Amino acid sequence: MYQGHPTLMQFKTNQAILPQSLCKPHPPMIAHLLIFLCTLVAMEGVGTLAHKYIMHGPGWWLHRSHHEAHLGTLEANDVYLLALALAAIGLMVLGDPVVQCIGAGAAAYGVIYVVFHDGLVHRHWPVRPSPRHPYLLRLYQAHLMHHAIKGRRNSVSFGFLYAPSQATLNAQVQASGGLAPPGEAV
Ligand SMILES: [Zn+2]
Ligand SMILES: [Zn+2]
Repeated sequence: MYQGHPTLMQFKTNQAILPQSLCKPHPPMIAHLLIFLCTLVAMEGVGTLAHKYIMHGPGWWLHRSHHEAHLGTLEANDVYLLALALAAIGLMVLGDPVVQCIGAGAAAYGVIYVVFHDGLVHRHWPVRPSPRHPYLLRLYQAHLMHHAIKGRRNSVSFGFLYAPSQATLNAQVQASGGLAPPGEAV
């Protein structure tokens, strides 16, 4: 039965019981997206330091497999990727929403690493596209420089989403004693 127009008081009461998400933007969602993106960027720093000081340091016994010719798709170095995947999944499963966003950022970095590092640079995948975009070409060439220096010492370009310019890398290689005989990335 029609009961006439709602009074101002009834209108305010109805508005008060509407879900908050319908009344205004959801600030936590924006904050969570920012946490995810910040984690993704920060992972490049963490990955660069881990590659330089752990994988080319005491963890070389595992990373070495990635710097040597090998048969097959898997290598001992993949243990690092497995550790990253387990940590990211653990954060996403066990954490509160903020920790879950950090886990998702770490997982996204792992996925990007697999696609570009394993797929684009080392061509471990059946599809082998050639990098054409200047940014991808810079990453590709910088990582080839990383592999051109044999052994764990004097290497250059430890990051993956960021790569120094070719001139900077050349200067770093010169300062470290020069390149070993050139060869394909392994
Ligand atoms: Zn390395
Ligand atoms: Zn590599």
